Amino acid sequence: MSLGLSADVIVVGAGIVGAAVAWAAADEGLDVLIVSDGPPGDGATAAGMGHLVVLDDDPAELALSHYSMGLWRAYTGDVRAQYHGCGTLWIANDEGEVRLLAAKQSRLAQAGVASQWLASDEVARAEPALRPGLAAGLCVGSDAAVYAPAVAADLVARACRERGARLLMPARVGKLRPRGVTLDNGTALHAAAVVVAAGLASRALLPELPFVPRKGHLAITERAPAAALSHQVVEVGYGASAHGSDDSVAFNVQPRPTGQLLIGSCRQVNRDDHEIDAAMLGRLMAHALRVLPALASARVLRAWTGVRPGTPDGRPYIGRWPALDGVWIAAGHEGLGVTTALGTARLVIDPLLGRATAIDASPFDPARVLIEVPA
Ligand SMILES: Cc1cc2nc3c(=O)[nH]c(=O)nc-3n(C[C@H](O)[C@H](O)[C@H](O)COP(=O)(O)OP(=O)(O)OC[C@H]3O[C@@H](n4cnc5c(N)ncnc54)[C@H](O)[C@@H]3O)c2cc1C
Repeated sequence: MSLGLSADVIVVGAGIVGAAVAWAAADEGLDVLIVSDGPPGDGATAAGMGHLVVLDDDPAELALSHYSMGLWRAYTGDVRAQYHGCGTLWIANDEGEVRLLAAKQSRLAQAGVASQWLASDEVARAEPALRPGLAAGLCVGSDAAVYAPAVAADLVARACRERGARLLMPARVGKLRPRGVTLDNGTALHAAAVVVAAGLASRALLPELPFVPRKGHLAITERAPAAALSHQVVEVGYGASAHGSDDSVAFNVQPRPTGQLLIGSCRQVNRDDHEIDAAMLGRLMAHALRVLPALASARVLRAWTGVRPGTPDGRPYIGRWPALDGVWIAAGHEGLGVTTALGTARLVIDPLLGRATAIDASPFDPARVLIEVPA
């Protein structure tokens, strides 16, 4: 069946990545059709922390997150997004971690990201609720946080209201075709370009693309004045935790504008279910309590899980998919998809319009999975 629906660009998925791509395309004057099986901002986007953070563990990740942060700073319009310039305070527990912190500062500086070194007593003054005796801290004041589902909803609403994009929802893409898609109900849609931004569900549409799901638990407290923080506080060991191949827990706590604390973060590798795992949640909370003892007096209102759409090499897939004419991919952003959504959108839309990209897009080229590595 064909409804004769066509567009310049079909975006599959309305999570933060699809929403950002749809907005960028519509803002360029392209005729955009967004197809989503759930409401904008659903999926991993609804489950995450919304920390906008420059990560430096991989040069490509550093370039994309830094580029995206510049785009985020220009995006502060919608109050529902709760854009919150809390910065990140990276903390070191011991001398070994102080060395990691110093290396982080140097990598960030080379990329042009300013940070401020805090000695042990300065960490205590900056965040008195943290446990005494932390070895050092590094404050990246330009990092921030948003309420990601609201941003995704806002981007889609603005693309439709202000730029004439159309949203087809609930509608599930069952199959990709050259320059088009077929919905589960058999409807065929046509476009010059199809951008697959379906998060982890992209693997059902493109089985050749390997994904590594990483399940995470989060918990949110009531308003917690005794444990109040003014920065998002993250252990410097978070990077190893985020990229490792084993289950892991790292201190990562975000003060919400409401006065609540959002407690992360943990990873269970190759898990894509949504069950609460009491043991993992217990590990997460016990670890958070060690670093932020005043949490003991705060009531946890809710705990939930989400699945990060990871890839084997830790880099998202962004760019043209050479195996299918007119198909592009923007998926696999693991735990950094909110931060990098706006930069990702530019890395798709600029080449689609025949323009050069502002940063090197080759590390994210999905075609890398088609290259056979000799045994
Ligand atoms: C616990 C946790 C904490 C996180 N913390 C952070 C953080 O602090 N900072 C950060 O930057 N990132 C964070 N992330 C990562 C971030 O949330 C994800 O990288 C990001 O949300 C991925 O967005 P997406 O749009 O690619 O996918 P999703 O948000 O999963 O959206 C996919 C969309 O595609 C739709 N869809 C799927 N299949 C189809 C289909 N066949 N047809 C039509 N539509 C379809 C879905 O309905 C959904 O709308 C976290 C993630 C988790 C789980």
